[in-house]
Formats: sequence, structure tokens, C-alpha cells
Amino acid sequence: MATKRVRVRAAPSPTGYMHIGNLRTYIYDMLLAKQKGGDFVLRIEDTDQSRFVPDATESFCRTLKRLGIIPNEGVWLSEDGKSLTQRGNFGPYIQSERKAKHQAYAQQLLDMGKAYYCFCTQERLDQMRLTQEAAHQPTGYDGLCRKIDPAEAKRRVEGGEPSVIRLKLPKEGSVTVNDAIRGKVTFDWKLIDDQVIIKQDGMATYHLAAMADDHDMEITHILRGEEWLSSAPKHMFIYEAFGWELPVFAHLPLLLNPDRTKLSKRQGDVSVESYLDKGYLPEALFNFLALCGWNPSDKQEIYTPDELSPLFDLSKINKSGAIFNLEKLNWLNNHYLRLRPMENYVSMVMPFLPADEKDLDFKRRVAVLFWERLNLPSEITNLSSFMFQANLDYSKVSLTWKDHAKDEAIERLTAAKSWIEQLDDSKMADVKNLEEQIKASIQSKGWGNGDTLWPLRVALSAQDKSPSPFELIVAYGKERSIKRVDEALAYLVK
Ligand code: GLU
Repeated sequence: MATKRVRVRAAPSPTGYMHIGNLRTYIYDMLLAKQKGGDFVLRIEDTDQSRFVPDATESFCRTLKRLGIIPNEGVWLSEDGKSLTQRGNFGPYIQSERKAKHQAYAQQLLDMGKAYYCFCTQERLDQMRLTQEAAHQPTGYDGLCRKIDPAEAKRRVEGGEPSVIRLKLPKEGSVTVNDAIRGKVTFDWKLIDDQVIIKQDGMATYHLAAMADDHDMEITHILRGEEWLSSAPKHMFIYEAFGWELPVFAHLPLLLNPDRTKLSKRQGDVSVESYLDKGYLPEALFNFLALCGWNPSDKQEIYTPDELSPLFDLSKINKSGAIFNLEKLNWLNNHYLRLRPMENYVSMVMPFLPADEKDLDFKRRVAVLFWERLNLPSEITNLSSFMFQANLDYSKVSLTWKDHAKDEAIERLTAAKSWIEQLDDSKMADVKNLEEQIKASIQSKGWGNGDTLWPLRVALSAQDKSPSPFELIVAYGKERSIKRVDEALAYLVK
């Protein structure tokens, strides 16, 4: 038998933001499709019209695109990026446009006796839940309308009585889901509710719409969040009712906080857009999420998408949930920030330097000075703020080295000032060269590096910790460096 072409899909509901956990699913979709030379479809699941958010699909596509995740089929942005198009032979790819297909499938299920009309009112369902809760029973539909004769149900529907359609699920025995990550998972049918598949407004719910579309679009692998695992028996029921070949199901474990609670909105940001807005780079997010709960080796943390796709293996994904380790994300962001071309990096951090500082060359030098030290572009504001202050406050950090006297600091700083004045302008951008020149001057005086460089570094920064004095001199330039040393001397002689 010829092997089937691998087809995966991302099936977001257009809610207005992309959940970070869903992004991980789309990354795995992309890696798998790439590895198998298959197709990656983007289908928009918009059957819940009450949750419709304008522009959500466009912004979803833009976010995916920033991450370098480009499905080759289904909904996508037009050339100018302004509107949506649909491409491929299995459309429409916007689920609400498939309403008639879903209804036809529901009708077939009714005809096969695998589904039934339910006329129960919301009040009855609410009451039923309260009674079950009070009696400490499992909550769920009691199956009242299962017993209605289909011909009578049809008459009532034609007479205009409001109704929904439910699956007529088995009430005894068990069902085993074969999950690519967890292996076999067995559920008792009696604990599974007769799921509504068509709502009163005629729209299919996720359970029917997604499965019908996955079948019609010839999806071979359904990768989705673990929250859907308990619904998988209902989905298998639909596939089996129609005699369709089951796809591979892979339920991805949740992303967890370090305390192993579910990563949720309340505990921090869960939207991809908010991470991007904070300055996390797409390539860092990609690398980080791809390795959340899976790593092809314990020796390597940095991977490109091209390196990962041949190594990807659903069965290696950790079953027990993936800790969202922000420190690791920060570390990766620092790594990828350093790989960016200088101009690109500078343009990212410029907005975080004082707008009223008009010396752009100076700002550029400050940007470059902190390049390797940043996890996020915005961190430069605090790290560099002393460099933009008109005057430094030397009262917090001692300008004198260890048990040295104040006079010694004055002596060192006075000398340092003259060395800076004599520095060769053409070599001012070269930290190494500057370091050599200053160290040679220190040596010629017979002083120690520590007792000279400490006062100099504090004079330039007024900080306990900062970049080295050589780096600071390069970033400040001659004039600003001399001004700082003068400020420190004035403070000392006061
Ligand atoms: N529309 C569903 C969601 O956004 C998709 C789940 C799936 O991938 O099947 O959660």
C-alpha cells in the first residue's frame, strides 16, 4: 500500500491572540510536515460566532509569519498582507463556510441512529446539573431525549421547536485512544456525555466540525493540546460511524509554571504577541518552545528549524508536561540578540534610550556597549541610565580602592584624566588597544591595576558593577569621559 501523504493542520479559533502553548503545537506541525515532505494546512475554526473578533485571523497569520511558520495550504494573507486568501484543493478553509457540509454529516449520523435531536431547555439542563452536583454525582446530560422516536423528533423540529443534535454515544464498555505521545489511554463510555454536535443556531460545534474537516481535508496527524484528550473518544466515534480511517492523534502536554501549575493568563503572559512586544525574538521563541518538553539531545540547546525538523519525533515528547522556564527563554533571547546584525540590534534598542539625548553616535556606542549583556532590548534603559545623567551621585559607591586613602584616588584619577586626554583619537573605538595603553601607563607609574582602575571605573559609572572602564571610555568618548573624571575629582576634593 502506498504511504499516505502526511498532512497536518493548525486549527486556531480566531480569539484575537495566539496562546503560547498553541504556538508550540504549530511549531511541531511545521517540523513534522517538513520532515515528511507533507502539507501544512491553516484552517480557521470560527463556528463559535459569539466569540468572533474582527481582524483576529489576519493578526494570527501575521504572528505566524513573524515566527517563520508558513503553512503551504489554507487560509493566508494576500500579497499585500492586508486581506485573507484561501489556497488549496480542500477548501473552504474557514470553518463557518463549511456549515452545509457539517449539517449533512449530522444528518447522516441521525439517519444512522448515531445522533439524536435534543429539545431540553437551558433551564432544564441547569437544574439537572445543580441536582447532580448536590447529590455528588458526575454531571452530564441524562439522556432524556435519546428515547424520543426519531420520526416524532423530526416532526417537532419541522414544527419549529428549538433543538440541538447530540451524539448517541455508547453507555457501557470502554474505549481506548491510541495517542502518539501517551500510548493507549482507556475511557469508560458511561462517563462521557452525549456531546452536542449541532447547536441551536445550526452551527456545528468543534467536535463535529473539526473531525469532519480533518477527514475531508485528508489530515493524517492531529496535533493538539492535552485538553482535547478526554474528547478523543467522541471524535473516534464520529470517525468510526462513517467508517473513516483514523488519523494519528497526538495530545501535547500542557505548558506548566515552574511550580507545575498550568500556565495561565493570571500567572503571566500567555499570548505570543505579548512576548514579541516585550522584545523576545521570533527565533528565540521558536527555539525555546520547540524544546519545551522535548530535546533531541542533552548536549545542545540551540537549534534552527532546519536542524530540528529531521530530528523531530512525536513519541519522544515528554508526557508529563513541559515547564515554561523563563530563565532559559531569556538566555536564548540573549543568544539570538547577539546574532542579529548590528544595525538591526541598534534599531531595536534605540527606542529604549533617552529621546532627549541628541548625540546619536553616543547613543549608538551605548547600545553596542550593552549588546552582550541584554536579554531584552528594554533592559538597556536601566543598565545604561547612568551614562545619560548630567551628573553622577558618588555617595553610594566608594571611589577609593579598599583601604586606600582618598588622596590616592585623587592622584590616580588625575593621572587617568591626562591619559585619556592623550589617547589617540583614531584608536578610541578599540577597547583592547585602549586597555593596553592605560595599563602601560599604570605600570609606568608603578601602581596596581586594581587601585587605579577601581576609582576610574566608579568615576565613570558611580555603580557597584558596570562594564569595564575601557569599555565605558569607548562608549562615552573622550570628552564625556573627562567630564566624568572631573566630576569624581570635584566630589573627592569637596
Ligand atoms: N480550534 C481549536 C482550538 O483553538 C483547535 C484544536 C485542534 O487543534 O483541534 O483550541
